[in-house]
Amino acid sequence: MFAKVASAHLHGIEAIGVSVEADMGGSGFPSFAVVGLAEAAVKEGKERVRSALKNIGLNVFDRPIVVNLAPADIKKEGSHFDLPIAIGLLAALEPEKYNLESTLIVGELSLDGALRGVAGVLCICSWAKDNGFKRVILPLDNADEAVLTPELNVYPFKHLTGVVQFLQGELKCEPHKRTSNDSLFDTLGSRYSADFSEIKGQYAARRAAEIASAGMHNIIMMGTPGSGKTMLASRIPTILPPMTLDEALLTTKVHSIAGLLRVKGSLVHERPFIAPHHTASNVAIIGGGAKAMPGHVSIATNGVLFLDEMLEFNRSVLEVLRQPLEDGKVTIARAGRTVSYPAQFMLVAACNPCPCGYYGDAKKKCVCSEQSIERYRARLSGPLLDRIDLQVHVASVEVSALDDDKCGESSQDILKRVVRAHKIQSNRFAGMDIHFNSQMSERVMQECLNIDDGAKKLAINAAAKFNLSARAYNKVLKISRTIADLADSASVEPAHVSESLQYRMLDKQ
Ligand SMILES: [Zn+2]
Repeated sequence: MFAKVASAHLHGIEAIGVSVEADMGGSGFPSFAVVGLAEAAVKEGKERVRSALKNIGLNVFDRPIVVNLAPADIKKEGSHFDLPIAIGLLAALEPEKYNLESTLIVGELSLDGALRGVAGVLCICSWAKDNGFKRVILPLDNADEAVLTPELNVYPFKHLTGVVQFLQGELKCEPHKRTSNDSLFDTLGSRYSADFSEIKGQYAARRAAEIASAGMHNIIMMGTPGSGKTMLASRIPTILPPMTLDEALLTTKVHSIAGLLRVKGSLVHERPFIAPHHTASNVAIIGGGAKAMPGHVSIATNGVLFLDEMLEFNRSVLEVLRQPLEDGKVTIARAGRTVSYPAQFMLVAACNPCPCGYYGDAKKKCVCSEQSIERYRARLSGPLLDRIDLQVHVASVEVSALDDDKCGESSQDILKRVVRAHKIQSNRFAGMDIHFNSQMSERVMQECLNIDDGAKKLAINAAAKFNLSARAYNKVLKISRTIADLADSASVEPAHVSESLQYRMLDKQ
């Protein structure tokens, strides 16, 4: 007698389908063997299955039993197979009673037959969906995580007996539904310890950070040491919308390859904030090395790459950033093979206004010569700066706090506006291969900008007055579009353009 149960296990964060085949001999000495490259944890599962079945009054172990985990050439780890093995044995005994069609089963058993959650269920469920399974049976502990996979019916159970009754058609149940909305973040709650409300004053810089987050624009902040650039930058992830499931999976995949997952099989659900030191090498930033590992640009995927003291970075490091900024991915060639990693990050850069750091400061005098400031600023120009949309001055705290004596708004409040702006953009760009205003090409801008005549005239005049390049002019328009979205305005109006012009301070110097 023979039965086959579909299951899966994890390889990195990729799931691999495993077929659990149970064969029961009619006669012979009682035995129970699990074959098919099962690692220790899977073999231990044998004893859990034996106890669980005995404890619910089903003794099938009075005959020779062989369980094969196919394909046999892949090592199987973890306790995912307890439940499918138990069901396989029962189904082999009475095949006609069990409906296992289009059904994937995973779960750990405790000795009394209760089901325990297993790691990586989300990856397993998305694999199941992609491979045509209609339903997944798993422990109740995993239910909320599992139903994040769209269009998959998830049936969670607390105990083996429930699973048996369900598969035999004796127990009817509805697929599990999650109570909250479609973001993983909502289930798990924010774990950010930092908040924008901790930043006093800095109205302009805070606003620039909000605009950058709303349109996913790259941003550079210039200010004296200690003005709070790092504090601002590190809070940007707290005002970016929660990661979608696809984003979380992609980020998790990269972190998994880079060996950065704190808990094996867990999902990264917080947007990364990656801040490499300015001495970091090309390989550290871009990726590579003997194992062609992902670099900081990939690890920051769906989050923020923060370059503090950007002008202190090696020139060649800044050069190699161009490809990921342009393409959203990096390709690493290594010993005859090519590996491609995602590199979709928001670039946040910070630098001092001059070599000593105090140019324009109200309290401390700058000691730099005019030429050295010029040379320093000249390093800012070039292809990298071309890819940065917003340029903002961060005043030292005392000065800006005088301007604005209120404490900052909380991240949660800013986030609400950013989320709304993202929604407006996803409607605008539906059916296109872009998501944000920052990604608009000139052609898309013509179609989607919706700028009124007064605003356009203002932008053209400003471009002439400040001698803006065509690229800079386009950036002004894109930022204006994002400002209009934050204001829930269908058209770009003069006020949006004039605010936008404030964020191009480096063009004006
Ligand atoms: Zn100076």
